[in-house]
Amino acid sequence: MPDIELRAFAYVSWSLWVADCPVPACRGAEHFGHAPITGAVGGLTQRGFCCARCGLTCPSVWPDNAADIWAVLQMRPLPETRSWLIGESIEDLVAENVAAGLIAPEVLHRQVIAVDGRLSEPVRQLATAGAAPTAVGAGPQFAIGGR
Ligand SMILES: [Zn+2]
Repeated sequence: MPDIELRAFAYVSWSLWVADCPVPACRGAEHFGHAPITGAVGGLTQRGFCCARCGLTCPSVWPDNAADIWAVLQMRPLPETRSWLIGESIEDLVAENVAAGLIAPEVLHRQVIAVDGRLSEPVRQLATAGAAPTAVGAGPQFAIGGR
């Protein structure tokens, strides 16, 4: 077997940061923090991943702009609409919010939405002003689901 370091990549599904187990045959997945309904703590942390299904422990990989992704998703009132897939740009998320009527297009007129994958300051202020009170601080700190 080749010496490959397995890593679990975080993405957002239905208002939860999750990562699929990188073991191809496993098909397990873990979430970050407490699950909204059960309260169970998942095996995805800011630094690592521990699969409850196969027992793999490996590093987790988060997007550099995780806080911005989370802020834009928090503008969406329905938790099931808060999803982000790896490769989806922050501009894509903002455009989806505009299409959903959560941001008036004229508010963004002539605004730079993001620079190098990070929200521009005016758009960040717009996003955080509309964020649910569960969004906490900057950096890799996230509040998941619930209120
Ligand atoms: Zn697994």
